[in-house]
Amino acid sequence: MEKICGACRVLIRNQLASSYVRAVIRSQHSGPSTFSLRTHSCGELRNSHVGKEVTLCGWIQHRRYDFMLTLRDSFGTTQVVLKEQIGKDVDNIRNLSAESVVMVTGKVQLRPDGLANKKMSTGDIEVVADQFEILNNSKESLPFEIHDFSKVKESTRMLYRYLDLRSTRMQHNMRQRSDVAMKMRHFLWKLHGFVEVETPTLFRRTPGGAREYLVPTRQPGKFYTLPQSPQQFKQLLMVGAIDRYFQIARCYRDEGSRSDRQPEFTQVDIEMSFINKEGIQALIEELLQYAWPDNLPSIHLPFPRMTYAQAMDQFGTDKPDTRFDMKLQDVTRELKDSGVAVFSSTEGNDAFVIKVFKCSKGMNYLKRKDYEDLQKEAVKLKDGGVTFIQIKDTDSWKSSISKHLRSEARENLGKAMKVNPGDVLCLAAGKPDSVNSLLGQMRLACANRLEANGASVRDHGSFHFLWVEDFPLFLPKEDGQDGELESSHHPFTAPVDEHKELIMTQPSQVHGQHYDLVLDGSEIAGGSIRIHDAKLQKHVLQNILNEDASSMQHLLEALESGCPPHGGIAIGFDRLIAILAGEPSIREVIAFPKTIDGNDLMSGAPSLLYNDELAVYHIRHDIRDATK
Ligand code: ASP
Repeated sequence: MEKICGACRVLIRNQLASSYVRAVIRSQHSGPSTFSLRTHSCGELRNSHVGKEVTLCGWIQHRRYDFMLTLRDSFGTTQVVLKEQIGKDVDNIRNLSAESVVMVTGKVQLRPDGLANKKMSTGDIEVVADQFEILNNSKESLPFEIHDFSKVKESTRMLYRYLDLRSTRMQHNMRQRSDVAMKMRHFLWKLHGFVEVETPTLFRRTPGGAREYLVPTRQPGKFYTLPQSPQQFKQLLMVGAIDRYFQIARCYRDEGSRSDRQPEFTQVDIEMSFINKEGIQALIEELLQYAWPDNLPSIHLPFPRMTYAQAMDQFGTDKPDTRFDMKLQDVTRELKDSGVAVFSSTEGNDAFVIKVFKCSKGMNYLKRKDYEDLQKEAVKLKDGGVTFIQIKDTDSWKSSISKHLRSEARENLGKAMKVNPGDVLCLAAGKPDSVNSLLGQMRLACANRLEANGASVRDHGSFHFLWVEDFPLFLPKEDGQDGELESSHHPFTAPVDEHKELIMTQPSQVHGQHYDLVLDGSEIAGGSIRIHDAKLQKHVLQNILNEDASSMQHLLEALESGCPPHGGIAIGFDRLIAILAGEPSIREVIAFPKTIDGNDLMSGAPSLLYNDELAVYHIRHDIRDATK
């Protein structure tokens, strides 16, 4: 990449060039050194630069003797040798601590014979500096060193996030995040006519909004809430003829301590008028392909699709990890007269299933301790846990049930599961929902164990997307009374066309026009076609969900005022970037994340306010010693 040469820089800096000349100069230069005090970054000099005069700025990574520095910036490291002429600075240099910020100017030269460092991209050259300026001294002994090999506790990294951000890992994650966001913006705005609109973050309480953060106001008893998502606003934008909306939106959910969730997180939020499910799915597929980082295996369209019912039946979850098989299979029929008490205790009851998954060659990797730990995990999830069977040989099965298992049942099961010596089966029996959920979680736990013990289970070489669709519109309310329902997505999701009548009579049987996008077993996007008929929306809120529809009067009136049919989706941007970056937690791709308990260790947020400070908000607390 062409850089601004020294002469041009002087012209620009001293404002000697006319704005026209400056514009021409700038149009010929781009990259991290344009507009900068430096001529090059610390990651860029090669043999071809030998003989050039350059200026570099950066942090001192190491100092060797009094004359040799490794200078680091966001783009790499360069070795700098200080010329004797700057010996007058020797004391300053000697006292310079690592992480001090300096600027050096000098000539690029080849390193002496045998001293090239092949591991460094700039390892063939060094800069022989005759000018050296300390831009800012760093204090000695920072809490940790900025090295790829430094093992620093996460809490320390969060406490000094500004230092942690200097690491190669965080530099990569922040830049990849920005690249993907910019490409998404370009795709939506430039190629598909979307309008970026900022929606309010001070909002009002919405029905069922127990997970919202409250913001006190000076008006007695009145609070704003921070929106869980811009859902209502994006629908109102469709009523307002914006037609295609997007926003890289900050969302807030007060979900208490939950690992790998953040109280504030980012969605790529999208809404479109005159669209159907297939249109939104195609848009998202192309958007992801367009924004996909070049350094990763490419992705292929269209993504596979699966119904919610299939996902629950075969994977025991609505976000199946399809990087590996080990699907759940129903063997109720095969084990009907098995002779095993746990498999027949509710014989005759329709709502009773026996299901199983197979770990091929699992015996080579799972040891006694693994079975014990997995069983403990299973018992925590459901009374009775699971039953493991180790297939030593066709006739020799090792299991807690093998004494009772009748040979016919064994043969049936073996045939249905196509077992081979060395395989391991994991079985559970009971109500379909609880069996699916238990085995779904055990499937993942077994895959993790097998991988930890050296087996190759998941395909880690490519990305596995899956659309899950055809969800029930409502599910039984968690901790609710019998018959009480809650939305499986949110109350604005439309029923499928065939169920427009059914929703009036049997809402629990209705399917919704809701779709989730799953990547490698994580839900990375979810959306729906919306209800655009005010009467139906009111019926859902009032009669099915038992919500106070008056708080939604603005939306109901908008739906009555010429609302186009519309639908949308939101991509969980943090999760997507974490998967792309191969990071285990979304905290690794957020510049300033909070702990699981929602604390910012660096600034100490949230912080205690005293009752006299709270008086204007008409609220008080009774925390002892909380008065000034
Ligand atoms: N607002 C929804 C959510 O945050 C996404 C959507 O329906 O577009 O899950």
